[in-house]
Amino acid sequence: MVDLKQLAYERKNIMVFLIMASFLKGLAMIGQALFFVLIADSVFLKNASFQDMVPYLFGLLGVIFLRVLCGYVIGRSGVNLATEVKTHLREKLIQSFAANPLQASIQGQSGQKVSLLLDAVDELDGYYSKYIPQMIQSYIIPVLLLIVIFSQHWVTGLIILITAPFIPIFMALVGIKTKEKADQQMEKMGQFSGTFLDVLQGLTTLKLYGQAERQQQTIKKSSLDFRDATMEVLKSAFLSSLMLEYISMLSMGIIALEIGLRLVVFDSLTFFTAFFVMILVPDFFNMLKDFGSAFHTGKGSTAAANRLSAHFEKEAPSVEWGQGILSNEPPYLTLNGFSFQYGEGFKLEPIQAEIPPYSQAAIIGKSGSGKTTLLHAIAGLLPPESGNVLVNGVPRDQIDEKSWFEQLSYISQNPYLFAGTIKENIAIGASRETTEEEVWEAAKKAGIVEMVMSLKEGLDTPVGEAGRGLSGGEKQRIALARAFLKQPSVILFDEPTTGLDLQTEKILQESLAELGKRATIITVAHRLHTIKQSDVILILSEGKLAAAGSHNELLETYAPYEEMLAVQHGGIVQ
Ligand code: ADP
Repeated sequence: MVDLKQLAYERKNIMVFLIMASFLKGLAMIGQALFFVLIADSVFLKNASFQDMVPYLFGLLGVIFLRVLCGYVIGRSGVNLATEVKTHLREKLIQSFAANPLQASIQGQSGQKVSLLLDAVDELDGYYSKYIPQMIQSYIIPVLLLIVIFSQHWVTGLIILITAPFIPIFMALVGIKTKEKADQQMEKMGQFSGTFLDVLQGLTTLKLYGQAERQQQTIKKSSLDFRDATMEVLKSAFLSSLMLEYISMLSMGIIALEIGLRLVVFDSLTFFTAFFVMILVPDFFNMLKDFGSAFHTGKGSTAAANRLSAHFEKEAPSVEWGQGILSNEPPYLTLNGFSFQYGEGFKLEPIQAEIPPYSQAAIIGKSGSGKTTLLHAIAGLLPPESGNVLVNGVPRDQIDEKSWFEQLSYISQNPYLFAGTIKENIAIGASRETTEEEVWEAAKKAGIVEMVMSLKEGLDTPVGEAGRGLSGGEKQRIALARAFLKQPSVILFDEPTTGLDLQTEKILQESLAELGKRATIITVAHRLHTIKQSDVILILSEGKLAAAGSHNELLETYAPYEEMLAVQHGGIVQ
């Protein structure tokens, strides 16, 4: 739960500073009124000389200066408070994104997450830079003013006491409505950011399929929704300012009437008291009005805080179980009745199979039979619907995610390369600092040395986000180099479906053979060579495990196998 007030109270120094500055500001306001009235009273009623005025004038100057100074200090403290809290929350968010189980990380739109990190946290700014400082002032200053007003003329004090509560009551009423609208506004903003980034990321695809126009409409609609929600929030904010203005005008009018009658008609008040009270009363109401507008900013922030809370609550507790189950030795993997379904869509039927350490497993089957799905399931990217994947006899989801992923390399058909140099992209394979030599060594084993040498900047050549500028095969070999650095004990490999040239094919096979010395390799296989030399071949057909066994076993027991081999890519058949 993100408790906004609590976050402010935790920053005690700033809060104490705010309270002291507010108290001083209240005193300065009273002092300012006092000197002002003293000057007016002396000049107009007591015919004082300029000489007599000088101390009062200096006094007035002094309190004005104090008031401005306090205002400045309060403003600055508010900004500091906002900065500290926002930094704290952003750090916490980033930590939570980083620590999230992979399952949670791949859910939801990236745009929504970015919006949480940037917009939602920024929404809180007003709460700390405006609302909290104003709230403290509104607790302290009106009370000070009221005490002085009561001491001068209790009837005015009484009128204020009767009328002023209407302001918070009304504010609370409007506030409830505003909160609802602010919630909607926040939600709309999240949706808008999500849609926007989604569309942006898929722009090429959308263009190719002539869908750009339609998506443009989606974005437009999403942005208009956001605009409407914002206007709703503003509408209620303006309405509440109007009402606050009315209430305070009305009470000031009553007070002015009462004081005027006493001063002029009944002659029962001195000019000094009347003037003094009439200067303090508007200050009193101004304070409440300022609080009213700050209150709205504060309410807007509550919606953002709720979004943040929702995120933190969803975050799974990071329990570190199952450590020590994995060593650097490849584990014994068992698919123990594992099944999975994409929503209402494709279903991977329960699969029973064993993959012993250091073995090579091949998953084969027609396109769409569920090979990649099974590979993702073994990696732990998909939660089981029933059954599980046993790692050394322990269900995979009971093993600490971090130590599992430390033992795993997944080389997909289209590995993700980050914006950075080739060197950086290889080095992320290892979770430690790596030397240039190690990176070269890994690059050599993955067979990309020649390719890298042909580039002007070598390993320091930048590759774009998602690996723009490199071919699919080159990206896969960078992923292989990562694996060489990491030296995992389980390698999941989605073999390229496209025909590779002989040279590349050879490098790939040598690389995998090298990696296989220390690891279990599970391949979604398309090449005859890979399939034939595998220890275990899992044949998938429409989401079911149709057969499993070695090449020779399958040749004898599963008739369609031979036919399947015939359509595989030739590769290097020996
Ligand atoms: P293969 O790797 O054998 O070609 P996949 O495992 O990629 O097959 O896909 C199997 C089926 O699951 C396909 O029909 C595909 O449309 C569906 N599928 C794959 N990924 C998803 C997903 N993220 N959501 C819903 N359906 C999916």
